[in-house]
Amino acid sequence: MRRTIAALLLVIILFSAASAPAEDFLLGVEPEPSSITPAFRSKEIPAEHHEDCYWCTPMSLEDEDAVWSMLTAPITVADIDMNKQTVIYAKPDEGSEGVAMLTGQSQGVHVLENLDNGWSKVETYSTSFHDSKVKNWNAFTTGYIQTSKLKTVPVNQNYGIIIDKLTQRLYFYKDGHLETSLVVSTGEYNKRQPYNESRSGEYLIIYTKTGALIDGNMHCDYALKFNADDYLHEVPYIQSGGVKNYRSFELKLGKRASHGCLRVQRNKNAKGYNMRELAALIKKRQDKNCVKLIIWEDYQGRQVKIPADDTPLYYNPRGGSYYHSVPDCASVARRYQPLTAFTFGELDEGKFAKLKLCPFCEPTPRRAFLEEINAVHLESSPGEVMSYHKKKK
Ligand SMILES: [Zn+2]
Ligand SMILES: [Zn+2]
Repeated sequence: MRRTIAALLLVIILFSAASAPAEDFLLGVEPEPSSITPAFRSKEIPAEHHEDCYWCTPMSLEDEDAVWSMLTAPITVADIDMNKQTVIYAKPDEGSEGVAMLTGQSQGVHVLENLDNGWSKVETYSTSFHDSKVKNWNAFTTGYIQTSKLKTVPVNQNYGIIIDKLTQRLYFYKDGHLETSLVVSTGEYNKRQPYNESRSGEYLIIYTKTGALIDGNMHCDYALKFNADDYLHEVPYIQSGGVKNYRSFELKLGKRASHGCLRVQRNKNAKGYNMRELAALIKKRQDKNCVKLIIWEDYQGRQVKIPADDTPLYYNPRGGSYYHSVPDCASVARRYQPLTAFTFGELDEGKFAKLKLCPFCEPTPRRAFLEEINAVHLESSPGEVMSYHKKKK
């Protein structure tokens, strides 16, 4: 009898292990694991091993514990006004060339060495804005700053946020676990506005009482400040005649589109999250330390995962025009639930080929879209504004 139960248990365990792949696709798009770190372009090797360091941790969701330790580790920032910037110099000398801009209180630096002449050797992505003293847009830079300007501060121990330029997704971590994913648009630069590229790096959500950002007739609700003029906020809308029109901005989610801010989805996803929920959680946080927000650069060599062919998707055979990641998507009327299952492998075939991506549960984009991201990143690093500009000259 006991042996039968044991055998049965073993069958159950083996069965559940074999049928486990269903959770990944709820992230919509996920980076393929790689060893590429935010300090990928660095020529420096830190003097001591860096535990839980943003700069030294690979840009991968694979090791949840490592990601959580990094998101909750203290951060070293410049102790100046949160709306001001300071210069990072080429040499430990204020007379030397300025190489990067650093925003007060919210932007992290990678401390490589504290010299005994009162200066520290640091690395960061230069957060140059259009009117900054040093114009080195989103460039990964090594330089020097007076050690007395730096301070190391603790961060919130309940929440952490990753923005990945490669996947155009926000990954929200809660109490040690990857809780959910939302679709975003990061900055899109052009020849005239190279400063529109979102500045990668390690930040604190420094101020949460800003409410809406209004730029002409463009409104951005639930704005949380993380880098002087950069905010995490809801996808914008245009106000016309008392109507809020989100459409043109929502169609661009999942792609670069903003002037540098991070636009986040408004529709509630399969787990009930959107920018409004996120902002409410962050504002009402118990641990009053600021929540860490990191931005991963989409360096050449990084790739996105292509879902397995048997990854389940769902649709409404009675006239539905979307495909979904869950059988009970909140965008679908109850009488059509549960939705009918099909697979990612069938998505480009027959009647499934016409279905559009649900803007609520945000399932995986189609294979061609994902393969295009991978093709671009085999050849280039789209966020490296400066190398693009130097090549043009
Ligand atoms: Zn490090
Ligand atoms: Zn849906």
